[in-house]
Amino acid sequence: MKWIRSLFFKSPAATGLVVFLLSFGTGLYLTLKEYQLELVEEEEDVENIAELLEDRIDKIISSANSAVNILAYLVRTDRLDQNFREVGRSIIDNIDIIDQIQVLDSGEIVATYPLIGNEMVIGYDILKDPNRREEALMAIEQRELYFAGPFDLKQGGKGIVGRLPLYRNGVFDGFTAIIIDWYKFKDQVLFGYQPSSDYAIDILKIDPISNDISSLIETDFSQSGGPISEIEIPSGNWIIKVQLIKSNAFISIIPNTVFRLISSILLGFLIFKLAEQPYKLTQQVAETTKELKLSNQRFELATKATSEIIWDWDMEKDYTYRSDNFERLLGYSQEESFYNDKFWKSIIHPEDYYEVENNLKNALDSSAEKWSQEFRIKKSNGEFLYIIDKGLIIRNKKGKAIRMIGSTQDITARKKAEADLSDQKQRLSNVIEGTGAGTWEWNVQTGETVYNEIWANIIGYTLEELAPLSIQTWIDFTHPDDLEQSNQELEKCFRGELDSYEAELRMKHKDGRWVWVLDRGKIFSWTKDGKPLMMFGTHVDITEKKLREEEIKSTNLQLQSANEELKSFASVASHDMKEPLRMISSFLQLLEKKYENVLDEKGIQYIRFAVDGSKRLSQLIDDMMEYAQIGFDPSKLSKVDLNSVVEEVIQLKQKVIEENNAAVEVSPLPDILGIRSPIKSVFINLISNALKYQKKNVQPVVKIYSTKEGSDYRITVEDNGIGIDKEYYQKIFNIFKRLHTKDEYPGTGIGLAICKKVISQHGGKIWLDSESGKGSKFHFLLKAYDDQTY
Ligand code: ADP
Repeated sequence: MKWIRSLFFKSPAATGLVVFLLSFGTGLYLTLKEYQLELVEEEEDVENIAELLEDRIDKIISSANSAVNILAYLVRTDRLDQNFREVGRSIIDNIDIIDQIQVLDSGEIVATYPLIGNEMVIGYDILKDPNRREEALMAIEQRELYFAGPFDLKQGGKGIVGRLPLYRNGVFDGFTAIIIDWYKFKDQVLFGYQPSSDYAIDILKIDPISNDISSLIETDFSQSGGPISEIEIPSGNWIIKVQLIKSNAFISIIPNTVFRLISSILLGFLIFKLAEQPYKLTQQVAETTKELKLSNQRFELATKATSEIIWDWDMEKDYTYRSDNFERLLGYSQEESFYNDKFWKSIIHPEDYYEVENNLKNALDSSAEKWSQEFRIKKSNGEFLYIIDKGLIIRNKKGKAIRMIGSTQDITARKKAEADLSDQKQRLSNVIEGTGAGTWEWNVQTGETVYNEIWANIIGYTLEELAPLSIQTWIDFTHPDDLEQSNQELEKCFRGELDSYEAELRMKHKDGRWVWVLDRGKIFSWTKDGKPLMMFGTHVDITEKKLREEEIKSTNLQLQSANEELKSFASVASHDMKEPLRMISSFLQLLEKKYENVLDEKGIQYIRFAVDGSKRLSQLIDDMMEYAQIGFDPSKLSKVDLNSVVEEVIQLKQKVIEENNAAVEVSPLPDILGIRSPIKSVFINLISNALKYQKKNVQPVVKIYSTKEGSDYRITVEDNGIGIDKEYYQKIFNIFKRLHTKDEYPGTGIGLAICKKVISQHGGKIWLDSESGKGSKFHFLLKAYDDQTY
């Protein structure tokens, strides 16, 4: 039984199949039995028909027997002769089937009724007719009624003849006979069965001599296949043969068989389905158990994998399960926390306590499904942690909270980071406020834009006044001309051609004037399909700067034209002044030559003073011209080898050097970026001064050297001359400023002014170290020549 149950539960399909096979097997058995029954029934039917036919023949025979026995009785009592005709008529009238009666003396027919039409048989001896003799003998032998035939009657027609042998004193004496028309006999026997499509029926005759069997009706049995019944009728040596033409036994069982097959299939399927239910249930239970195990395992692993404390608070029992992280994170043991309520309250930071208590109570009392709270709790070592507690509230049918499952996460680091971030934000906003910059954040795709208060203040509004804010706010306030330029720059940014966007634009101030704004921005994020998304930027009010620039521009223009005027004035002046000066000088020299003898010593001296004065004036004019014409064309900047420049200057000054017995020491000098000819003027002036402003009776020593200062070179021209007082360090660079008379040291006071102008134009500076009586060091800075730039 157990195995059946286990099969039933474990394999519904097998169970279904077994039931199907059993049911169908039983069905088949029943079908077989049915088939056999059907066959038996068919056999019985055949037998019944055969018996019915036998019965009919028996009845005929019995009728015939009555007739022949009546006749025999009458013969024996010798009463036949006088009564033959009446008896004959009576028999034929009463016994329908009998057509004729005969009385035979031995084998000879001596009387017949009716006689009319049968006269020719009178006197006919059947024992002498070989065709009739045998059957007649059989009747004699059997001593009872025996039918011969059917055969063709002498008197015409076809008939069967029933003969009863008669004995007198135990010796054969003759026959009483009746004749039955064969066709009548046949029709009466086969009545209702001829012709029959269901049965093949025949009456056979056994030949008394040869025992051959011949068909009397010549029924064709070749097509018949059903059961056969044969009954022998000895009184006529006949056999009644009945056969069912076609057995329906097999066909008749088909519907039942099909029905059983379908029923078995249905039953099998039904049982399969029935068995499947508990099977599915078992499977489900197994799967659910497995899932439950897995989910339990998952839960355990998850509680291990996470750094959070997972907890499950049963409010009815006031008991809380807490995962191992509880001990790890807070340092308390599970036992300590057993009485949840008291324990939990005891470790909440006093400042957070009421908020936590209230919020929790509100959540539990309402229909809320979740509760979450950030607060501080105390670790076992007294330290406080910032945590976030999140719980799912489980309620009973009445809505009362009965259980809460959740997690506790340590957010101390996040809180600290948030605090830092907010500090940083504050600082950043202070910085932004400090710089006076307006800020904007623009979602390029949606047009949403956030501005800070300063942004609005720059154009004289508050943010509130400008609401609603969008990129359109900016467009509305910007000068249309500048907007176009700005859009072009933005497009470049969007296409990625520019890293950042910058534009100077005018914005309409609340009071109607235009405010110049330096608008700068950068794209910080892009959409997935490469479109710009978020852009951040600043607005700085540059109106003041712009105004100053304008002023500077116009001053520069003024200066430029003044300079131009000055240059042309200087050149005209120098040309126009030098020409009369040359005349004065040459006529004075002529005067001296021609009137040398007339003029006294003083007169000649005056003339010389005058010549000298005009020479100095000419020199002054040259120097002024040089100063005025110093121009600077940046496109002419190139590599200048200072060694060669200094070498040329020394050659130029060779005479003076020799006259003064001066020593000029030149260290190797660098290549600088500059314009050669003005740089050469600087060296001429500085070296000339170094040789000129010397102490008496001391050998002049001039040193020229350089030192690297970042991307510049500092060039120094050092002398051991008279030196300069600190108070003149600046003044000597002014034009015409001289510290000595022309008699002490000749000069025009323009040299250092030229140096300063040239060095400034090169972007450098010039200064000096000196002390009165101890020599001077003139330094200037020039840009180093960089191969890669030029
Ligand atoms: P000049 O030499 O024609 O007077 P500069 O402009 O060259 O004009 O010099 C201005 C003044 O600076 C000079 O008159 C002189 O007093 C002082 N000075 C220039 N170079 C030296 C120097 N190497 N030593 C002392 N004084 C100097």
